[in-house]
Amino acid sequence: MMVTPPPPSIENSATATTVDEAMMQLALAEAREAAAAGDVPVGAVVVAGDGTVLAQDRNRRETDLDPTAHAEVLALRSAARRLGAWRLIGCTVYATLEPCPMCAGALINARVARLVYGCPDPKSGAIDTLFTIGRDPRLNHRFEVVSGVLAEPSAELLKAFFRPRRQ
Ligand code: ZN
Repeated sequence: MMVTPPPPSIENSATATTVDEAMMQLALAEAREAAAAGDVPVGAVVVAGDGTVLAQDRNRRETDLDPTAHAEVLALRSAARRLGAWRLIGCTVYATLEPCPMCAGALINARVARLVYGCPDPKSGAIDTLFTIGRDPRLNHRFEVVSGVLAEPSAELLKAFFRPRRQ
């Protein structure tokens, strides 16, 4: 089932569950770790269909000096290693920020069932904001999208990270 994106900062309580919020709290904890390491605070968690947390990771571009080290990509790789399969059938991915085109493409390639994200990304959001990867019928896979889960704390972490320090 596809879900129309709600306005920013309004939770989509019709489809987000308490499990979704608990998993997003894990992703937020990863995002905080990223900020502590000097990376833009974004976190991601991959959960199997039976509820098992397969992987959790954070943005590590600065730490790893790797332009592709976004939280979602790293978490997908770990989840696939743990499953012993590149197809993450039935998995849900939680991301604190709307995935970029690269990560949205990775979600397609991983064949995930569902994406839950926090706040929208006006500059590179590829799920609802700039593109609709995940529900584009021209692509070979689609997934369910739930947006706005714990959007405010996700956005606040990013704002705090980019907020210029007071003199
Ligand atoms: Zn990304």
